[in-house]
Amino acid sequence: MHSLDAFATAKLVDLDARHQLRRLIPTARIDGVILERGGRRLVSFSCNDYLNLATDPRTKAAAIRAVETHGTGAGASRLITGNHPMIEELEHRLARLKGTEDACVFGSGYLANVGIIPTLAGGNSLVLTDELAHNCINAGAQLAAADTQAFRHNDLDHLEELLIEHRDRYDHVLVVTDGVFSMDGDLAPLEALGALCVKHDAWLMTDDAHGIGVMGRDGAGSAHLKNKPVAVPLQMGTLSKAIGSYGAYLCASKPVVDLMKTRARTVVYSTGLPPAAVGAAIAALDIIESEPDFVALPVAKAQRFTAALNLPRAESPIVPIILGEETRALEAQKILSDAGFLVAAIRPPTVPPGTSRLRFAFTARHTDEDIDAVVAILRERIL
Ligand SMILES: *Cc1c(COP(=O)(O)O)cnc(C)c1O
Repeated sequence: MHSLDAFATAKLVDLDARHQLRRLIPTARIDGVILERGGRRLVSFSCNDYLNLATDPRTKAAAIRAVETHGTGAGASRLITGNHPMIEELEHRLARLKGTEDACVFGSGYLANVGIIPTLAGGNSLVLTDELAHNCINAGAQLAAADTQAFRHNDLDHLEELLIEHRDRYDHVLVVTDGVFSMDGDLAPLEALGALCVKHDAWLMTDDAHGIGVMGRDGAGSAHLKNKPVAVPLQMGTLSKAIGSYGAYLCASKPVVDLMKTRARTVVYSTGLPPAAVGAAIAALDIIESEPDFVALPVAKAQRFTAALNLPRAESPIVPIILGEETRALEAQKILSDAGFLVAAIRPPTVPPGTSRLRFAFTARHTDEDIDAVVAILRERIL
């Protein structure tokens, strides 16, 4: 065998032995909740399309209009010719929603984090990340020529210890956390984190991929839970979850956004967002800003689920059921799938070893009957 294929095969065999091999399964989304796999229709509790806007007639119509006006692709990096007019409109809308001076969009959440973090954290910088923060935050920190350290999950004392110990040795310190944690559904203590960062002159950045559109006033995200928003100077998030499209953003001050547009490598060296994605995102923001009761539904559905199972009250649309070993999570996934429900088993390395889980993501259009049915299966056959 060619050494390249031998290398790949050995890796696959090893992953399979550890129940960590993943396979792609063709999946057609029928509407916001139902999808089709292997000839069967399943109710999905695994899509991050929390408001079911990816299949909403209004966002679809906006995407089609955008294609008819501007075509299917941006044609180049935004700094060359790819800055079609809808992109600036989207940035303006995002900044308005978040109450920041400006915004910069990126190709995806992953590309945003690997672009933003190295732009801000140069040579003599320290990046401190929550240990459960999303993988692409770590990827961004690794790309930055900066020292990095993780603080224990949501542990303000540990973060302060690290700041006291290391702050003086660095020119700049960037603290990065998820606003809503993607695999646990809990929230970062943003108010206290903000105060700690001000006290030690560190820059706070939140990744609110799972907050925008479903949390806080007007769905503005996890920094906006109270009347007065928490001052987070760097608010990143994605357009691919509750917004139902593709792409991502950083909302920040004008100088920070201007710096991104001239220096972030994933902006400078990557093609601008396609018009359809931008048009759909703008239409989604119209819906989110005008329908607060709809925006509140995903968290309310999650809370119906946690109440029925006597779990701690859901704080976001995400609820994990931690089962332990990979095999237990896979068996539970199979039981639910046989009954017509898709709930993805999440395994290491996405989550720490021994915490394999079912991850439930609740959406606006899940019915109470669907939720009660999965609760019954969990009680009778899994927990
Ligand atoms: C999904 C996710 C991302 C990546 O966003 P994409 O737009 O899918 O690339 C980044 N951060 C968090 C916390 C996420 O959950």
